Amino acid sequence: MVLASANPKKVAELREILDHEIDLVPRPPEVPEVVEDADTFVGNARLKAAALLAATGIASVADDSGLEVDALDGAPGVWSARYAGEGATDEANVDKLLAALAERPDPADRRARFRCVVVLQRPDGSEVVADGTCEGHIAPAPRGAGGFGYDPVFVPDDADGRTFGELGAEEKHAISHRGHALAAFVAQLRDA
Ligand code: IMP
Repeated sequence: MVLASANPKKVAELREILDHEIDLVPRPPEVPEVVEDADTFVGNARLKAAALLAATGIASVADDSGLEVDALDGAPGVWSARYAGEGATDEANVDKLLAALAERPDPADRRARFRCVVVLQRPDGSEVVADGTCEGHIAPAPRGAGGFGYDPVFVPDDADGRTFGELGAEEKHAISHRGHALAAFVAQLRDA
């Protein structure tokens, strides 16, 4: 299967989680990136998978993911990568998020979750969709250098108070939205 992501850290995570279950070929460089202008994670994942399938003719897998913060009415959501503007750095996105929550120091007011949707589209027109979530809250300040994106400020409920950025890769994958989505994805492929 060919994979529709240009984010090297996300590609690395997908491969680590899948281990040797599925052989994922990265998106060929000549295939252009699609504009992710759907307003749902599944919509954006479908756009990416469909564009890649059209360009390669090979079964294509795409994921879309992001962070939803309850106090911000679900923002940054599908805009997670571009929260502080087109081409924003992870640091700029994290700074904007912490600033938006500055008036809400209580962890109960900082509830959030990561979501991930994985879509496979095959040349015969069939599709597999799987999703995963990870509940937690936003820390008052960044902690840890692991992972990417909002990892240093996301405290998952299923760990011991450490942020995603402080967890080892295996620890993160065991509880993360991407880990859950890919486990559900592989289970569906096995059942098919
Ligand atoms: P996508 O590439 O359109 O799916 O954008 C996903 C964005 O959501 C990333 O650029 C990050 O900002 C954020 N995100 C998704 N998954 C994670 C994660 O596991 N850790 C931290 N940030 C994440």
